[in-house]
Amino acid sequence: MPELPEVEMTRRCLEPWLLQRKIARVRTTASSYFFATPPEQLARRLRGRTVQMLSRHGKYLVALLDDGSRLVLHLGMTGQLFVEQAQNPRLSQAASKTASTAPFRPDRHTHLCVEWEDGGPKIFFRDVRKFGKVRWLAPGESDPRMTRLGVDALQVKASDLHSVARVRRIPIKSLLLDQTVLAGVGNIYADEALFVARLDPRGLACRLTRAECARLVRALHRVLARAMALGGSSIRDYVNPDGVDGRYQTERKVYQRSGQPCVRCRTSIQRVVIAQRSTHFCPNCQKESESERGPRTNLRR
Ligand SMILES: [Zn+2]
Repeated sequence: MPELPEVEMTRRCLEPWLLQRKIARVRTTASSYFFATPPEQLARRLRGRTVQMLSRHGKYLVALLDDGSRLVLHLGMTGQLFVEQAQNPRLSQAASKTASTAPFRPDRHTHLCVEWEDGGPKIFFRDVRKFGKVRWLAPGESDPRMTRLGVDALQVKASDLHSVARVRRIPIKSLLLDQTVLAGVGNIYADEALFVARLDPRGLACRLTRAECARLVRALHRVLARAMALGGSSIRDYVNPDGVDGRYQTERKVYQRSGQPCVRCRTSIQRVVIAQRSTHFCPNCQKESESERGPRTNLRR
């Protein structure tokens, strides 16, 4: 599932292909839950408009249009937003069979196709599982899901996290995945950040000390920055808008590495389920919260 680094890479890569180009036509598939705005209405609203800016909050992309309206895009689980000439086997259903470099042809999973007045490269939004979303917002209108989002993970401060964490009796992993607390973090980067911060994902959020929150925020920022430097993670469907794979998956320390040795201590990485999500961690390196153990100097164990 695309998380903050993949969505931010999509934004950076796609923006130059959108800015100051006038939309000639929008083609869509039939009405479905993918379209928070009905496809006919979407096509009508977008025709003749120009994109002025593409911004991001958490895992949401927002295109500001010249009439003050906005287009909200969410990649969901398998969403792919890309430019016409992008070539990648992940953009085909027969991914494993055709490593061909044939140009992309819209298929039945291509729910949105934006054509421009300049006749230049089209933009496609393809989504096999259709958990992605597109929504058009009138000027001044807000997206109900976006208004509930917490602070963007790139902007979060240790004090923000600590003030939310201290009143939540839920595992730290669940807290990190809660988009109303922290926008943009999903399963991969939550597991990776907890490993870097040496925190047990099962530990209770309310027991995190200020120092641990600071460590966790530093780890999160480090992991997200590294993932963006490598173009995100291409584990299943994600490709950047030019058709290039991300490379972070080759550097992950715990995510989907259960049974393999920890890169620090060689202990087997374990997998547990927290909040219905697979969680991967090193039982030796990632310890319970300091407050749970009591101050180090008083340790009797
Ligand atoms: Zn370890």
